[in-house]
Amino acid sequence: MRPVVPRVLLGVRRSVAPPKCFVPRHALTTQRQGLLHSTCRAFSATARWREKVPESATKIAAGEEGGEEDERKWSTPLAKQLARAIQATGPVPLASFMRMCLTADIGGYYTGAIEDGRDQFGLKGDFVTSPEISQVFGELIGVWFVAEWLAQGRQGQAVELIEVGPGRGTLMDDIMRTIQSFPAMVNSIDAIYMVEASPKLREAQRDLLCGDGASWTESKVGYHSVCKRGSIPIVWTDTIKSIPIAPNKMPFIVAHEFFDALPIHAFQCVSVPATQDDPPLETDKSSPSTRTTQPTLQWREFLVSPSPPGSTHESLKTPPSQSRATPPPDFQLTLAQAPTRHSLYLPESSPRYRALRSRVGEGALLEICPDAALYAADFAARIGGSAQHPKEKPSGAALILDYGPGDGSIPANSLRGIRLHERVSPFAEPGLTDLSADVDFEGVAEAAVRASEGVEVHGPIDQGTFLEVMGIRQRVEMLMGVAKARKDGGEESAHNMKTASERLVDREPGGMGKVYKVMAILPEGEGKRKPVGFGGDVVN
Ligand code: SAH
Repeated sequence: MRPVVPRVLLGVRRSVAPPKCFVPRHALTTQRQGLLHSTCRAFSATARWREKVPESATKIAAGEEGGEEDERKWSTPLAKQLARAIQATGPVPLASFMRMCLTADIGGYYTGAIEDGRDQFGLKGDFVTSPEISQVFGELIGVWFVAEWLAQGRQGQAVELIEVGPGRGTLMDDIMRTIQSFPAMVNSIDAIYMVEASPKLREAQRDLLCGDGASWTESKVGYHSVCKRGSIPIVWTDTIKSIPIAPNKMPFIVAHEFFDALPIHAFQCVSVPATQDDPPLETDKSSPSTRTTQPTLQWREFLVSPSPPGSTHESLKTPPSQSRATPPPDFQLTLAQAPTRHSLYLPESSPRYRALRSRVGEGALLEICPDAALYAADFAARIGGSAQHPKEKPSGAALILDYGPGDGSIPANSLRGIRLHERVSPFAEPGLTDLSADVDFEGVAEAAVRASEGVEVHGPIDQGTFLEVMGIRQRVEMLMGVAKARKDGGEESAHNMKTASERLVDREPGGMGKVYKVMAILPEGEGKRKPVGFGGDVVN
């Protein structure tokens, strides 16, 4: 396929001296070199759940074994806090457990549990992500946003860059470095917004984007500082809801490995035998009979409860796909025996879920991420307008890059725990274990178009295809040429650049180029203009 990256960005300039934005940052390249063989988060998930709430868990939840639980040694402070909460309320939905484990105020994975001097990323961390592997990843996303800005008429003001879940800030830094070559676009940017739950990562992002220890001020919205590139204001918020929406804004939004960290609910379809309930009282005609004469298929929710005291990996049957190097899991997943608030509502909320129940029937598994739908709807409203936030002319774009099925199938059984580059039980050492799940791209697309008539969705396509069409090979060749011209270690650095970029586009089973997908939300245009990377050419 012919690369459709703007010639001005790659092709033409490639033959002359590299443009400023593409001069390799050697420090950064070196820092990323060690990551070539570390682990990304998209391991395949193969764990199967327990299917019934064991009696011990119910007793614990009911407080009957409270004394024993008080003496129990929990693996982390968060585990103890969660167990106490479950003792009071009963087993909790998987989404509540996941939310606490990742972003609890005290001791969540992204909000403070990890010891000082270590973060989630890189060799010393738990996993590695594409922007941390190669600078080219962020550069090509920057190029994609420039191409969209050009295609949508080069709006001269009120452009916003928004990143949700920015990690160390590496992706935004690479995007900003790339955009610097387009002063007209830089001048049109009002502000950069970073949606980040982690105070420590917010600081890392500030140091990278604004300079080490740069000052910031706090307001009701969040923290404010100024980007060292282009002197653009940067605002950090906890959630995207804090970012104001206005009809004249042209938002460019990126979400890389963010949706997979949003909490999921999980369900299984069970066959419920016909019941013999009494019919409603003659005097109470308003209440319908609950009696069923046929077995019915119903969804039941997976809940989290403490594992029985004294559990071992053997007794909990930690699957062979998960390392047993952690302490035995403090918690376990169990299937609720009766409907829950979520099982009555969520699996009925889309025809896709209802079709799954009819097609697969008993035993069907289903994961639903309401927060992903909320974020997708928010992106769509910002780009295309909505009843609450009308927009005369849709503008902007969102790029969502993550892992999950690309064929429209609904994720099931995909929750993973990751520590120190290994798959571990998601229920071991809460707060110290990263949790993530496959993204339901089809669900994200549905939520976007449902939220705004002013948007259309392209993809998902494989990351490998996207990056190749965006010109990753040409860009890496150019960087390698620059590296080789250096006297010290240039050959090795060029070799590492090549290996890193090959990893991003690797289409072998489990390769990042195949497992990771890219989806775009754009202003509605009856599908007439395909964006660059998704089959479209550059409109200049
Ligand atoms: N995009 C980065 C980091 C991915 S890890 C990269 O690719 O390297 C997930 C990121 O999302 C982290 O920055 C984490 O702190 C943030 N995050 C996770 N859950 C969040 C939530 N509910 N709200 C805001 N940020 C969240």
